[in-house]
Amino acid sequence: MEEIIGCHVSFRKDTGLLGSLEEALSYGANTFMFYTGAPQNTIRFPIQVNQTLLAYEKMKEKGISLNNIIVHAPYIINLANKKNQEFGVRFLKEELNRVENLGISKLVLHPGSHVGVGSEEGIKNIIDSLNQVLSTPTSVKICLETMAGKGSEIGKTFEEIKAIIKGCIKEEQIMVCLDTCHIHDAGYDLKDIDHLLDTFDQTIGLSKLACIHINDSKNEPFSHKDRHENIGYGYIGFETLLPFLYHEKLKGIPKILETPYVMDNKNSYPPYLFEIAMLKEKKFSKTLLEDIKKHYRKD
Ligand code: FE
Ligand code: FE
Ligand code: ZN
Repeated sequence: MEEIIGCHVSFRKDTGLLGSLEEALSYGANTFMFYTGAPQNTIRFPIQVNQTLLAYEKMKEKGISLNNIIVHAPYIINLANKKNQEFGVRFLKEELNRVENLGISKLVLHPGSHVGVGSEEGIKNIIDSLNQVLSTPTSVKICLETMAGKGSEIGKTFEEIKAIIKGCIKEEQIMVCLDTCHIHDAGYDLKDIDHLLDTFDQTIGLSKLACIHINDSKNEPFSHKDRHENIGYGYIGFETLLPFLYHEKLKGIPKILETPYVMDNKNSYPPYLFEIAMLKEKKFSKTLLEDIKKHYRKD
């Protein structure tokens, strides 16, 4: 079976799911993740059925499963603090509806930031919010993302994620998205992947793992900074990241790159075509960043 490797792509009003699919295919990806609109606002346009059906057709042709496509919820949703709760619950319900209409089954969500009320209270608020959201039946699974612990972010430990899942009435609706940059920044050791997956299994359970974000990190462990770096160019490193793509226990789980665009003094270029190729070849390229610039400049 071929590995399921994709990346973050755009989702545009005029081209919809078909446009996202075509962007992903241009990177050699066989899955992808997108925001249904700008991640920092709530402006959302109606989804066009026509484009969606065309996308399904093309996915079938290319052997891409709708089941592996991921939507990321906007990060302005914060379920951990009472102040933002009402808005967050309403918007998340709408978002689940949009995702369901697209035929997609996984929505990645940042658990939230407690903004001063403390982790325990924050976790209670998240549970309360999710229970409200899930009072309306949905076929979509909410995938809580493991976080770096920037500011007052909740979800920086597997225990916190587990506490949220345990508190949800519809536990079966909640899954998890593991982000390599975030857990590294939170202080987990990624070098011993067997040990890490055992730890995950003992706290949350590997059957809950629905998505993996593959990113390098610009910072040292425990930095709590959450700044992604290109694969092999950060503090995690290529050799440590590679097993997250090919480990036996992670087979069939979609792997999504959220690495930064490569910049020169004029433009920025998507790294994904080259990063995906490098990960498939399983061999680090020291000239990756230069190759990306050369490739796109020429076009
Ligand atoms: Fe995220
Ligand atoms: Fe992520
Ligand atoms: Zn991040």
